[in-house]
Amino acid sequence: MTINIKEIAEKDRNSVLHPFTQLKDFATGKLGEPTIVETGKGIRIQDALGNQLIDGFAGLYCVNVGYGRTEVAEAISRQAFRLAYYHSYAAHTTDELAILSDRLVKMAPGKMSKVFYGMSGSDANETQAKLVWYYNNLRGKPNKKKIISRERGYHGCSVVSGSMTGMSFYHDHMDLPLPQIVHTGVPHHYWGANAGETEVEFSARRAQELDKLIQRLGPDNVGAFIGEPVLGTGGITPPPEGYWQAIQAVLKKHDVLLIADEVITGFGRTGSMFGSQHYGIEPDLITIAKGLTSAYFPLSAAIVGEKVYKVMEDGADKVGAFSHGYTYSGHPIGAAAANAVLDIVEKEDLPGNARDVGAFFQAQLKERFAQLPIVGEVRGVGLMGAIEFVADRDNKKRFDPTLKVGARISKAARERGLIARAMPHGDILGFAPPLIATKAEVEEIAAIAESAVRSVMDELVWDGHI
Ligand code: PMP
Repeated sequence: MTINIKEIAEKDRNSVLHPFTQLKDFATGKLGEPTIVETGKGIRIQDALGNQLIDGFAGLYCVNVGYGRTEVAEAISRQAFRLAYYHSYAAHTTDELAILSDRLVKMAPGKMSKVFYGMSGSDANETQAKLVWYYNNLRGKPNKKKIISRERGYHGCSVVSGSMTGMSFYHDHMDLPLPQIVHTGVPHHYWGANAGETEVEFSARRAQELDKLIQRLGPDNVGAFIGEPVLGTGGITPPPEGYWQAIQAVLKKHDVLLIADEVITGFGRTGSMFGSQHYGIEPDLITIAKGLTSAYFPLSAAIVGEKVYKVMEDGADKVGAFSHGYTYSGHPIGAAAANAVLDIVEKEDLPGNARDVGAFFQAQLKERFAQLPIVGEVRGVGLMGAIEFVADRDNKKRFDPTLKVGARISKAARERGLIARAMPHGDILGFAPPLIATKAEVEEIAAIAESAVRSVMDELVWDGHI
């Protein structure tokens, strides 16, 4: 398609309300022209000016099978020609939907029973909250409703999921969080540990804090705990050693359900098929989205464990139909896309690739960055990683936020043809490339990032900030 770039940019500026964009800066042109993304192949995208960019973030940690997969496009097209839509209400289904659900129940960690579909991670977590409330109502525990999530956890931005998200800028000016959602401490050893505290000790302390919080709220008032196996948007932070074991013991003790938010970690990102398998998590409910279709179609799901589902089925005579569902729940095109994507994930062993290429990538990050004077921590697992920049390594002192070090490094990377994301809560450069990435490609990513980091480091030295 030949497009008039100016015309598209103007239409966009006049009519698109962009997420996570400073509205006035965009409207007045301070943020520059919108990037019109036109095509993608493998781990690269191309904009309308012909610039190629390596997508070191797989879109938003989602295009796991890479861009331009004809198998997926063809599956979508076939389904659209055959049957573009039918709903899944009142016992209607499609072959693709039934096959996908059977696959998901079998491959998911823990004892899973049923799959409920939505269109985004946010709405799937909205469903999770309703399932927790429904479950406890049916069990005759009408007060067991509070849901605990973590500071710096990310679970979406709708009303309940946005409340679960433990970042104040998602709440401010939006009347969130809801009172049913309570936050507990973030499991980030680098910033949170006391002097000399080991990872295991720190994990035990976080678990004790959770225990105390549940005691204070009253165990009969706490329905669930939600967490990402690896914190994603909160800074790509793997859990400290022993964290999930210690947390799960507390949840078991108080009969509190565990929701594993696998929106990023599902389908291979950590090097295991699910993050729960990687860290020995036994969830009662699992949230998936992103990698489920590699973002070729908006599809998410709440996978419901046997324990919760049994109560729902047993209670059905009392309450009637399960009154929850979207027009697009179980959309057949989404199901066809997911089946085609899962075929690739299995055939190409993308969890295995994330493990092998991921180990090489993590080593590259450590080698190139760990010793730099502005680097506080290099962390990651599988094909997700982050570099955290600090002004003073010895005293763990952050840079003055007005220096915008993280954003400048991300911009410098972009100018060198790499998308790596500046993340909130400090000066953090995050990576989550497509899971098809080769060793040569992740080396290229690390090399470009190094050049970007060194250029900003030189500026900081020049300006007398380090
Ligand atoms: N949970 C997690 C762990 C996520 O990373 C995200 C999105 N980044 C969501 C939920 C929300 O998904 P969506 O943006 O599709 O609503």
